[in-house]
Amino acid sequence: MRFSASKAGLLKSCKFPFRPGTPCVDERGRAAINGDRFHKAIATYIETGVRPVETGRPLKWLEDRMDHATAWVDKNRRPEWRVEIAYAYQWRTGEARILGSNLGREYAAAGLKDDEIAGSADLVWLAGDTVVCADHKTGRSVTDAVWAQLEVLCLMAAKAHGARHACARILHATDYGIVEYERHFDELQLWSAAEQLKMDLAEIPEAWPEYGPHCSGCYCPARAGCELFQIRSKEEHHDAA
Ligand code: SF4
Repeated sequence: MRFSASKAGLLKSCKFPFRPGTPCVDERGRAAINGDRFHKAIATYIETGVRPVETGRPLKWLEDRMDHATAWVDKNRRPEWRVEIAYAYQWRTGEARILGSNLGREYAAAGLKDDEIAGSADLVWLAGDTVVCADHKTGRSVTDAVWAQLEVLCLMAAKAHGARHACARILHATDYGIVEYERHFDELQLWSAAEQLKMDLAEIPEAWPEYGPHCSGCYCPARAGCELFQIRSKEEHHDAA
């Protein structure tokens, strides 16, 4: 599986799924599919001001979150917002560029080079010498894996926009409203993030499986073919029974 920013949490815990030749199946569960629907709908609302009409039976989960998210957008809207920006980052040299917008996961088709990695931010804007990357999240909680993704996105965005600092903002859409989280990265922290990413990516060719809560927590797409996962999860299931 090719690395992208959305898999940064998995990379920190196990590099084996990214090793060339590791069989991966990207099974998208119901939560991921609903999350995609939400992302598409809120991106359309931000760009056009029109809330898309869902075909079929309305999904309360989605309707509730869209109510909160559109209210947040109306209150915070900025003319300089850019939506669904995809970046390409040359991890060996630290150079970055904007690859396009609204690409989904079609980075290769947009011209991602072999020595680049990609990532997309939901909302991006510049505030002085700081680039702000805001991401909508719909999971049950804001995990370390989510922050790992935002750190990589901030690094890419800061390099691509020539910003000295970066700010990660998570807009967590819940049943009850949008919960906001924020983290700042100064020049030194961005440098440190770039060095860590470089080390992690360089280890991929020699990586072996590292079992842990991340196997399921980060939805590792190599689970079905990972012998270590099959053995250890059966043992745990057996112990718990
Ligand atoms: S299932 Fe777990 S141990 Fe196996 S490759 Fe994935 S993250 Fe690593």
